[in-house]
Amino acid sequence: MTTAPARPLCSRGPLISAEGLNGVGKTYLTNRAVDALTTKPVMLDEFSERANGRPGLGEALLHALREASIGDPFLRGGTPMAEALLLMAIKRHDLDTVVPDLARGQAVVEGRSVDTTAVCQALLLHPGDPDAALKTAVDLLALAASYRPLPDLTILVTDDAPKALVRAQWRDRCVFTDEQAQFMREACELFERLAATDPVRYRVVDRRHVDEFEAADLIREWIQGAGGDLACLVEPWQGPEAACMCCGRPTLEAAA
Ligand SMILES: [Zn+2]
Repeated sequence: MTTAPARPLCSRGPLISAEGLNGVGKTYLTNRAVDALTTKPVMLDEFSERANGRPGLGEALLHALREASIGDPFLRGGTPMAEALLLMAIKRHDLDTVVPDLARGQAVVEGRSVDTTAVCQALLLHPGDPDAALKTAVDLLALAASYRPLPDLTILVTDDAPKALVRAQWRDRCVFTDEQAQFMREACELFERLAATDPVRYRVVDRRHVDEFEAADLIREWIQGAGGDLACLVEPWQGPEAACMCCGRPTLEAAA
């Protein structure tokens, strides 16, 4: 691991993501956790539907992916790398919309971030090869980090894949094909393995071991505890000499 250059502490709010398989209950549990908070974070809904419902570029890109994948629940259109880059562009768009919130010290919680893209697209690039998929997922995260800063904290909600499948089918009133169910099982495993590669950024709620009350409590504690000692946010394509995306100060201690 390389040592990052020292960066001054920033007055910005933390960027937190909630990740996990369809039907794992991440939105439900995150909303319950936030309900119990007195200071509410800004909530950024899954893939780009702005909190105020205003369609924007992110929604337009998502619409293109939906059209190209002809109703596939995982937006698979047959060109995984092109789709990965579009999904990363959507997540960049989402970040752009909340930079003013972060800058005034607000916590932001995004439902699904770049980890979902890394997991799903890595599986598509390496069907039947979980180890190669893990390596590519890590590489895709590095690519995503050149588009936009990664979240300060990522909360992964996980469970037995068959249980998540039942919830997802009930919620979406659909029946997944065997192939789609298999894809979910593989994604479940890869999410967990990817989270284990970065214990600093990830917190994992495993519903096989905690009930929904404990799960919501954990998520509330983590959201509450994020922030306070955050470094300035570097625009990745500009490098460390650039001004912080939030407070505008130089992001290298030496340059301050
Ligand atoms: Zn800053």
